[in-house]
Amino acid sequence: MPEAPSTLSDDGNFDENNKKLLEFFEDITSNADDVQKKVLNEILSRNAGVEYLVRHGLNGNTDYDNFKKIMPVVSYEDIKPDIDRIADGDRSSIFCSQPISEFLTSSGTSGGERKLMPTVEEELGRRSLLYSLLMPVMDRFIPDLQKGKGMYFLFIKSEAKTPGGLLARPVLTSYYKSSYFKKRPYDPYTNYTSPNETILCLDSYQSMYSQMLCGLCQNTEVLRVGAVFASGFIRAIRFLEKHWPILCHDIRTGTLSSQITDPLVRESVMKVLKPNPKLAEFIEIECSAESWKGIIPRLWPNTKYVDVIVTGTMSQYIPTLNYYGNDLPLVCTMYASSECYFGINLNPLCKPCEVAYTLIPTMGFFEFLPVAREDEGPEKSKPYDKNDLVDLVDVKLGHEYELVVTTYAGLYRYRVGDILKVAGFKNKAPQFHFVCRKNVALSIDSDKTDEVELHDAVLKASTHLLPFEASLTEYTSYADTSTSPGHYVLYWEISYKNSDETLIPTSVFEDCCLTIEESLNSVYRQCRVSDKSISPLEIKVVENGTFDKLMDYAICNGASINQYKAPRCVKYAPIIELLNSRVVSSYFSPKYPKWVPGHKQWSSS
Ligand code: AMP
Repeated sequence: MPEAPSTLSDDGNFDENNKKLLEFFEDITSNADDVQKKVLNEILSRNAGVEYLVRHGLNGNTDYDNFKKIMPVVSYEDIKPDIDRIADGDRSSIFCSQPISEFLTSSGTSGGERKLMPTVEEELGRRSLLYSLLMPVMDRFIPDLQKGKGMYFLFIKSEAKTPGGLLARPVLTSYYKSSYFKKRPYDPYTNYTSPNETILCLDSYQSMYSQMLCGLCQNTEVLRVGAVFASGFIRAIRFLEKHWPILCHDIRTGTLSSQITDPLVRESVMKVLKPNPKLAEFIEIECSAESWKGIIPRLWPNTKYVDVIVTGTMSQYIPTLNYYGNDLPLVCTMYASSECYFGINLNPLCKPCEVAYTLIPTMGFFEFLPVAREDEGPEKSKPYDKNDLVDLVDVKLGHEYELVVTTYAGLYRYRVGDILKVAGFKNKAPQFHFVCRKNVALSIDSDKTDEVELHDAVLKASTHLLPFEASLTEYTSYADTSTSPGHYVLYWEISYKNSDETLIPTSVFEDCCLTIEESLNSVYRQCRVSDKSISPLEIKVVENGTFDKLMDYAICNGASINQYKAPRCVKYAPIIELLNSRVVSSYFSPKYPKWVPGHKQWSSS
């Protein structure tokens, strides 16, 4: 297998280093087939004796054909009993011959709790390799980025210990806390305005405040801005909208707000912060202007692009980013998950709707479950067969697939849950549009709520209406991102036996809102309580007959009257307008739902 070039030498020969990395990428994509077979062989031979592979009958037989024939395709629920054993302290080689170093907690949930993905120490190196490819690619489109800084809003989240003592934390928290990030050798491409200490501060207010302050202080040096997801970057801009007066005070005087109490954060910020009344005045003038259109290039005038993921559910934020960015390019650089890092975008200046990620053949072994297309009729409902799985190099242009991975950390033929569409090829490696994540009805930030979860929560909440001889007859939902931060909206149509809505106290509807929030998964509740990236859930009660109107609308627009079902989630603007025009009252969740780090069955450490 081709070896990845080592990281940048101290003499900082960028061109040479970039060239080497791109040559490596050419090499692995040109030989994607061979590389994939070698990856599989390496994973299987290292792990030949592990319990999971033996249990499924691989018996040390590590060849490709045998694997394809024997190994089942699995979802999280299938491997959960084994995951739970590891979480409870079983250190035997269940999935992997190397020790599981920690669990990465995915934003996908199972039973309301984050899924736990096993990982091994060496995966950090693989993740670093993907990161190291991003800037050499970018340099081909926008040169000289190494001459300035990146203002990235990066955050860690809380971690917990499993009952067996393993750390469980999100993949980026693990990466930022690792020496790969903290002790990274000098590299002008990872020259960020945020000192490490501000990123590694768990208090989200102090972290955001100090990162914003450092970004403002170095405003003319900034050549690119970003966050991981679009929602995170918008949160930073909205933070600035609220806090610019005190940020300007700090810049004017060269003193740091007393709300920043973390000594390491204070020390690191004080190395950047110097009294600068001129800059403070400039920021004040821009921020107090009536319009915030183009605020990003106004405050950071040398910015070339906004680096955030705007594919998938994040596409809902494109208009807001275009407004703040005055149409600066929105760049989606990579596609990754807790299970495995997948690929990079080789054409970063393309439009968001054209983004395609080239999967990196060395990251894991990738297979693809064909997704039947609308026009394929009854085939659509045919259950999948493991023999249907297609290898990386055999996917077909224009076809849609569900991604299935086999990883070095011991996931074998694991369904990630993402649907991808083949957009083209880089040499022999396919490039994919991200189509969607399966079963996500609502999402504001990293939360992913599916219809079943929502339905269960709504049913539970609606029991609060029973004492008033009222019942919920129909509902639908909407992820409203026009508020800051965004929030879930539920449209409820209620039938009343002997009462009407006015006889139901406001507190009852508020209890309904809170019950829904309490019933949603822990990622939703963490976003609400800890990250504060979602605002209180709202129930909008609509006039009777509204859902009939919704049906009329759908039928007028071609839906079949026999098959019509009220959608459980709506996105289409005219439908939302229709619903909003018939709202009679609205109620918000009165307080935060409960949330603690870690799984609810673990005592938090
Ligand atoms: P997590 O396991 O919490 O790290 O989330 C990983 C999931 O986030 C992936 O499986 C995708 O569904 C989504 N995701 C990651 N990167 C992208 C991207 N570039 N575009 C769209 N969705 C993404």
